[in-house]
Amino acid sequence: MRAELISTGTELLLGQIVNTNAQFIGQRLAKLGIDVFFQTTVGDNESRLREVVKTAMGRADLIIVTGGLGPTSDDLTRETIAGMLGAELVMDEESLAHIRDFFEIRGRIMPQINAKQALNIHGAVTIPNRIGTAPGSIVEFEGKSIVILPGPPVEMRPMFVETVEDYLRKMTGTDKAVIVSRVLKILGMGESMVEERISDLVDKQVNPTIAFLAPKGEAYIRLTAKANSDDAAGEIISGVEAEIRNRLGDYIYGTDDDTLEGVVAGLLHKHGLTAATAESCTGGLIASRLTEIPGVSENFVCGFITYSNDAKINMLGVSRDTLEKYGAVSEQTALEMAVGARNAGGTDVAVSVTGIAGPGGGTPEKPVGQVYIALAGQDNAFAVKNLFTGDREVIRWQSANVALNILRRYLQHYNSQKG
Ligand code: ATP
Ligand code: MG
Repeated sequence: MRAELISTGTELLLGQIVNTNAQFIGQRLAKLGIDVFFQTTVGDNESRLREVVKTAMGRADLIIVTGGLGPTSDDLTRETIAGMLGAELVMDEESLAHIRDFFEIRGRIMPQINAKQALNIHGAVTIPNRIGTAPGSIVEFEGKSIVILPGPPVEMRPMFVETVEDYLRKMTGTDKAVIVSRVLKILGMGESMVEERISDLVDKQVNPTIAFLAPKGEAYIRLTAKANSDDAAGEIISGVEAEIRNRLGDYIYGTDDDTLEGVVAGLLHKHGLTAATAESCTGGLIASRLTEIPGVSENFVCGFITYSNDAKINMLGVSRDTLEKYGAVSEQTALEMAVGARNAGGTDVAVSVTGIAGPGGGTPEKPVGQVYIALAGQDNAFAVKNLFTGDREVIRWQSANVALNILRRYLQHYNSQKG
């Protein structure tokens, strides 16, 4: 089924309000497995509204129109569509009673102009409006469904969820089907590389569908399966997931509600290892994220925030020579910070971060976004150089991500390393 969304309102065109109805309905339809092919916005103008509805009728099976159900003369959605379908507007007594009550509860008498809102298209199903006055309509016409909803999001949203979704589920047969999604979370590999590695799977996707998302410098793959039961949908997903895991290996750090810090905390616990952090430009962000995980105190011992050179020397034992020779933002300093944090904290492993988060402080040799991240383990230590792009917040967040990810990969391979 192909859906088209029509948002009406001159304010939308003028940019005075943001079209959150389109966002909301788009998300809800995606969850129902209904494809939205077009979204149109049109002002409060009868002939242009006719034009977009006509176009939509020519290319969609489901047309959802929001706005223009108010009592004033610029609200003309229902009249316009009734006219196009050649249908009469008839008084819906139940809606009229509801509108009267609406005013009565507020100690007012219904203005006559509001009675117009109780007119429905002949043959249409009424969508009750719990919050406001204007009911919505569902009309079926020549095999197409037209859903009409009021503009105010507080009214439209519950009407959509409580009435329209039931109707759509019945219509698409998904009232008997279940839809299950699983998100695979990836770090250390860019979105385009991820896509490239699984492009053949993407090309032939049917069930499950495969979608890409890229929040905050990570890459997510969302698998969505439709089946008769949760178990069956889960099996469909697992098959494709296994193939994707083959291709991406341990770049996948978790699924669904997993967080990077949660995965790291879990691995520390699993191996019975302790960890410390030494942070410069992230200012404690890594420690903060780790300590969001309840119970991590067994494994996370301490975090050093060593912003100045003196702090790096005094708290972590970074050598003054290293700082003078290579600078605070260098591979050597990062390594000494990690080794120093591991010694000072008396832990099994430590990670460190030192870099330039910007916006100032960059040089041609060490530009903004250059960040060294190191790990010191029981019998090895290494540092990696990164060049992040973005503002200060993004650079700091990505630095913390990479540090946590390096720790995660070290911990994931911990046994094999020892073995
Ligand atoms: P009313 O009875 O309030 O006039 P209506 O159904 O006629 O309701 P509109 O006149 O189109 O709806 O819009 C009323 C208000 O609802 C707008 O001023 C705006 O605040 C909000 N609104 C309308 N459409 C949208 C939209 N697409 N996204 C977000 N808000 C919207
Ligand atoms: Mg209005």
